[in-house]
Amino acid sequence: MTVAATVGYRTIRDLNQSELAGKRVLLRLDLNTPLNEAGGISDDSRIQQGIPTLRYLVDRGAKVVIMAHMGRPSGKVVESLRLTPVQDRLSELLALNVKKANDCIGEQVRAMVAELADGEVLLLENVRFHKGDTKNDPDFARELARNGDLFVQDAFGAAHRAHASTVGVATYLPAYAGLLMEKELAALGAVVDAPEAPVVAIIGGAKVSTKIAVLSNLLGKVDALLIGGGMVFTFLKAEGLEVGNSLVEVDKIDVARSFLDEAKNSKTKVMFPKDLVVADAFDNDAKTQIVGIDAIPVGTMGLDIGPKSAHEFANVIKGARTVVWNGPMGVFELPTFAKGTNAIAEAMAACDGNTIVGGGDSVAAVNQAGLADQMRHVSTGGGASLEFLEGKELPGIAILRT
Ligand code: ADP
Ligand code: MG
Repeated sequence: MTVAATVGYRTIRDLNQSELAGKRVLLRLDLNTPLNEAGGISDDSRIQQGIPTLRYLVDRGAKVVIMAHMGRPSGKVVESLRLTPVQDRLSELLALNVKKANDCIGEQVRAMVAELADGEVLLLENVRFHKGDTKNDPDFARELARNGDLFVQDAFGAAHRAHASTVGVATYLPAYAGLLMEKELAALGAVVDAPEAPVVAIIGGAKVSTKIAVLSNLLGKVDALLIGGGMVFTFLKAEGLEVGNSLVEVDKIDVARSFLDEAKNSKTKVMFPKDLVVADAFDNDAKTQIVGIDAIPVGTMGLDIGPKSAHEFANVIKGARTVVWNGPMGVFELPTFAKGTNAIAEAMAACDGNTIVGGGDSVAAVNQAGLADQMRHVSTGGGASLEFLEGKELPGIAILRT
C-alpha cells in the first residue's frame, strides 16, 4: 500500500494505543453479502475483508460496536434480513464470541454496549430496519452515535451513499478510515490518478435502475463500455424489439432510450450483446437456445449473453490496459447461465492490464470461477468503486478528510 494514497485522510493508524484501548469504537462495515435460497451466506468475501480492521481494534483493546446493513428492508424489520448469519461467520473468522443486539439504537442496545469488556465485539442489527438510515436522519444518526466514542469507516462498498450510518454519525463523532478503506483508496486511487488506455468498463447485473447513472457517467470517460446482464432487455425494449418474458423495467424504458441517444454522440464505443441465451423457464434445467437479439421468441427469457457476444467482449478486454467490471452478464448462480460471466472473468484473468472487479455478486462470480487471485484488485464496492473511478468524492470518504 502506498502511503501517498491515503494522505489527507484520518485513519485508525493515526491513533495510538491509549486512544483505542477501552474506547467504544463504532465501526461501519459492509457486510451486505449475497444470500442463498436457505438464507445462508453464499459468498463471505465482504465479511473476510472486514476482519483486518476488526483484529486491529480488538488487539488494541477497543470495545468494538459494528454497524452494517443487509439488503433493502426499506425501514422495517424483515426477519430474513437479520444479521444473525453474519454474526456466526464473524465469530468463526475472528475466533471470538461476537455478540449481537436485536436493534441498532435504544436503551437495551446502549446497555449491551456498556457491558462490553475491552477487546469484545458487538454486532448491531441491520441499520436499514430503521427508515432514518438511508434518509440520513440527524436524530437517528445521533442515536447511533451514542453507541461510540469514535467512528471508524470501513464500509467502502456503502461509502457512495450519504446515510446515517456511513456519513451522519460523523457529525457527532471523530471519523477515521479502517484498513479496508485504506486498501481500496490505494488500489482505486492509483487508477483514477493515472488510468492507462485503453480503458474498458463492463457493466452488467439485474437492473437498469441501479446502474443507469453509472452508465451515463462512464460515457466519454472510457474507451469502450460493454453492457450485459438483465438490464440489456430494457434497452432492447427501448429499441422496439421483442424481449419475451425477459426482465424489463417498464418505468426505465425512457431513460434507456435517452442513454442510447447519448451513446451515439459519445467517443465511448458502447457495445451490447449480439446474441443471447434464452430459456423457457428460470431454471437450470430449462430448455435453452441461442438467438440473435432481434429474434427472442415469445414465451422465452434471456438469461445470459450468447457465445458470440462473450467472444467479442473477451477480445475487447484482452486488448485493454485498464478494465473495470461490475455486474454479471447473466444469471451466473445457475451453471447453465454462467458461461457469459465466466468468459468475462477468464478474459480479465488473461489480460495483463490493471484489472478491477467490484460488487457483491460480481465478486461472488469471480470466486465461483476460481479466478479472484488473477485480478489486480477485487473491490468490495460495486456502485462505490464505479463512482470513485468516475472521479467523484464519495460522501462516506469525504468525512475522513483531515
Ligand atoms: P453486483 O452485486 O455485482 O453489483 P448486481 O446485484 O447488479 O451485481 O446484479 C447481480 C444479479 O443480476 C445476479 O443475481 C444475476 O442473477 C442477475 N442477472 C444477471 N443477468 C440477468 C438476467 N438476464 N435476468 C435476470 N437476472 C439477471
Ligand atoms: Mg448485487
